[in-house]
Formats: sequence, structure tokens, C-alpha cells
Amino acid sequence: MTRQVRCECGFVARGDSDDAVIQLVLAHVAADHPDLVELETADYIRGWIELLPE
Ligand SMILES: [Zn+2]
Repeated sequence: MTRQVRCECGFVARGDSDDAVIQLVLAHVAADHPDLVELETADYIRGWIELLPE
């Protein structure tokens, strides 16, 4: 099942596993929201994951 995380800026990350989508969001936060890097940890992002019906 596809995992999705939507950033408040409109960025959408999708992946086939929790870890894959978390890595995409971490990279996005580092690139576009560097002031949030310390807040948005992997465990925090995990709480945003939505499961998309296929
Ligand atoms: Zn963003």
C-alpha cells in the first residue's frame, strides 16, 4: 500500500514503505524548511503518514 505525507507547503511525498516516505520528507524539510529540521524528526513525520487505497 502506498504511503503519503503532505507537507503544509503543498509538497507531497509518496513511497512504498514508511521508511521510504520518511526519507523523502526528511530530504524535503532539509532542502525547503531548514528551520524545521530539528522539530521534524522521523518519529514526528511517521505520525503524518496516510495510507492510500490502491
Ligand atoms: Zn514543505
